[in-house]
Amino acid sequence: MRCTMCESKKNLKPKIENLKYEVSGLDNILVHGVKVYHCDNCGERYLQYGNHEEIDAAIAEALLKKQKALTGKEIRFLRRWKGYSGQRFARLLNTSAAHLYRIEAKNNSANDKFDRLVRLAIISLVKDRNYELHDMFEGKKDFIKYKRIEIQSKGGQYSLRYA
Ligand SMILES: [Zn+2]
Repeated sequence: MRCTMCESKKNLKPKIENLKYEVSGLDNILVHGVKVYHCDNCGERYLQYGNHEEIDAAIAEALLKKQKALTGKEIRFLRRWKGYSGQRFARLLNTSAAHLYRIEAKNNSANDKFDRLVRLAIISLVKDRNYELHDMFEGKKDFIKYKRIEIQSKGGQYSLRYA
């Protein structure tokens, strides 16, 4: 690929790096194998994370399986992932948009009931999946304990690692 920010005609070659996935609005997501193109002429950097839809779906899965209650930012990620405005999502949860935004603005965990409500609302919109949250709610399967989510692409499929 060529730099689109300057006149350099050099063909940029990618370096492979593991990078934080900041567009998610979460700071504990690491994506492996990101292609980083750097233009020596103007200093511009181009990042290719891969398939954003699949990465987002992998993050959502990790969040839905998380042992601790979701944080405000994680709730915001899940809401946006399913394309809900704050107003619409608040109506779905039978609360006010102001209340939802207050929760989303916080870095700490939501209360357990709100957390459960959000997960049930989101999971009902996830058609294609190989895990069952009900088994976890019933205690038949364990939720997953982690501080960081790592996402790796293997043969076009994204896999999750928890750290
Ligand atoms: Zn350049």
